[in-house]
Formats: sequence, C-alpha cells, structure tokens
Amino acid sequence: MSRILIVEDELKLARLEADYLNNAGYATECLDDGLKVVPWFKQNPVDLILLDLMLPGKDGLEICREIRAFSTVPIIIVTARIEEVDRLLGLELGADDYICKPFSPREMVARVKAVLRRLKPQEVSGTEGPISLVPESFRVRAGHKETELTAVEFQLL
Ligand code: CA
Repeated sequence: MSRILIVEDELKLARLEADYLNNAGYATECLDDGLKVVPWFKQNPVDLILLDLMLPGKDGLEICREIRAFSTVPIIIVTARIEEVDRLLGLELGADDYICKPFSPREMVARVKAVLRRLKPQEVSGTEGPISLVPESFRVRAGHKETELTAVEFQLL
C-alpha cells in the first residue's frame, strides 16, 4: 500500500484529502507545521508528498528544495493561486505536479494516481544482463532497461 504524506495547515482540507486518499486505497499521514516536514520525512519514508505552499514555520518552496537535496520522492505542490504555477515552474523545484485550490478531491486523487503510475519502478529481472547502478540519479540499469528508484529503494539495492 502506498503511503502519502499530506502537508496542509487547513485541517478541514487535510482531513478531506486524507478521506479521499484512504478511500482510494492509500495510507496517509498529515503534518500541519512546515518546520516538522523535513525531519519527519527523514525518519518516515513515504511514496508521495502532497505539499501545500503556504504553511506556518517554513513554506512549501523551501521544504521542496530541502527534500530534493536528498530524495527523489514524488512531490505534488498545492497552491492557492493558479497564476503562481508559471512562476513555480520557472523555479525548477523538481516537483512532479501542481494542483490549484480549490480543487475537487477526485481530481486530487487522479493526480496522485497518475504521478505514482508514471514513477512506479518497472520490474527489473535478472535475465536482462548485468545490473549497474547510477547513484547520481538513483537509477538502476539492467541490460537495456533503466529504472529510476527512490532514494530508499536505491539504498536497499
Ligand atoms: Ca496553507
């Protein structure tokens, strides 16, 4: 079961997101304080982070940068202003997708599914030839196949 970290300081919205994600078969964790996110994530690996931009303590941009310094975990940024997405894209934060508030919970679930599907590592079979690891990008190469892993998966390998 995939685990999703919801970072959102509007508790009603966090609960709504959690409900919909739980119904879609995901396990969820919620944090409402920007300062807690990076230390928490270092102790608790998750499969995807839904990251609100405007947070008390530390904003989502800073959190995204800090996480990208050590992890390729999929991140979906949630922003209240659609016009901000262009600016965010320009910053090259390394986020995997953006969702604008207000959004329908169904759309949010669809985006989460799409990102997880896109990034899901393909099976690496031992018959493909020698396996080589590319630490800079957390990639594993087996024969002609190349797969991107999360930092944790890479370490396990
Ligand atoms: Ca907020």
